[in-house]
Amino acid sequence: MKEFIYLDNAATTKVRPEVVEAMLPFFTEVYGNASAVYEFGQECKRAIEHSRDTIAASLNTAGANIYFTAGGSESDNWALKGVAEAYKDKGKHIITTKIEHHAILHTCEYLEQHGYEVTYLDVDENGLVSPEDVEAAIRPDTILISVMFANNEIGTIEPIKEIGAIAKKHGVLFHTDAVQAYAQIPIDVEEMNIDLLSASGHKLNGPKGIGFLYIRRGLKIRSFIHGGAQERKRRAGTENVPGIVGLGKAVEIAMATMDERIKQESELRDYFIQRIEKEIPYAKLNGHREKRLPNNINFCFRFIEGESMLIMLDMAGICGSSGSACTSGSLDPSHVLLAIGLPHEIAHGSLRLTLSAETTKEQLDFVADKLKEIVDRLRSMSPLYEDFVKKNEK
Ligand SMILES: *Cc1c(COP(=O)(O)O)cnc(C)c1O
Repeated sequence: MKEFIYLDNAATTKVRPEVVEAMLPFFTEVYGNASAVYEFGQECKRAIEHSRDTIAASLNTAGANIYFTAGGSESDNWALKGVAEAYKDKGKHIITTKIEHHAILHTCEYLEQHGYEVTYLDVDENGLVSPEDVEAAIRPDTILISVMFANNEIGTIEPIKEIGAIAKKHGVLFHTDAVQAYAQIPIDVEEMNIDLLSASGHKLNGPKGIGFLYIRRGLKIRSFIHGGAQERKRRAGTENVPGIVGLGKAVEIAMATMDERIKQESELRDYFIQRIEKEIPYAKLNGHREKRLPNNINFCFRFIEGESMLIMLDMAGICGSSGSACTSGSLDPSHVLLAIGLPHEIAHGSLRLTLSAETTKEQLDFVADKLKEIVDRLRSMSPLYEDFVKKNEK
């Protein structure tokens, strides 16, 4: 395969070699069923529980509160539908935001079709949800608040601790989609009063198709899959043992390297942002400047069409994204960029670059140089840009 620069780590990440190595024996050697009584099956069981405990410790909770799922989307679906059904006698109102991932938004739409009411909170121009707005939206029939920990497109980190305190004060459950934030920045479910939390393996250098839902002890929730007794009868199905082991290993490494990665990635992020702001006119940073994931860069370039920019970057061997992987391929601008108040024509010209621990300054310099060329070229073909510059010169 030809050399390329991968800057789409919010879409998915490379599985670490140590993770693959940890998984391999569970395909061909220790392949027993974890529910079996013989030692061979019990070895799998121990490996699963080891992963569960590693994950629990990373969130400051107990292993019994971690439930393995097939990824972030499943965890989000389960949290919302499971709580909605279990608490429907208390009420049918849910509070969320306009900038959630589609795994949340489309689940909310589904619930609306089934008699639930959903309040979609606005965010400010930086993508921040206001805790006051959350509090004001609470009604006697509110059963759940779901606010993402950090946004997957613009990287904004939400005031989760404040929202958790409000939820607790009003006796409303609080779920957070932490797929982008988990194992990237510190999370403590006790300190932050989080009742449910979704995470996914492939966003943190683990395998695809595995994730988990943290569910606070004592909370009622409908089982997601009915069948065997796996996952305390709440999510049946023979365990994805290699996936679970891989996820555990990825979490172990991510937690051990977190501080170092935060420092390294945020320095590179800020270096790149500075270069772009200095060298490319009419470029606008999207998302909050400080309350931002260490690896997220998101810009709008006026008079540029995002897709053309991505294709030209791809020709230069650079993988970026114009928003979320789920909306690319559709012509609609991102719902997140519209929610922070960008007009349609500007929201179309966005570029998201998300770094990894392997990203280097040399790579980012190369990307910045290319990007400058590409933006220049595309603007030189735009009559709108020509008019705009003429007007501005007057
Ligand atoms: C990727 C992502 C998801 C979906 O996770 P999958 O494991 O791909 O199903 C959900 N929420 C956010 C914020 C994400 O970034």
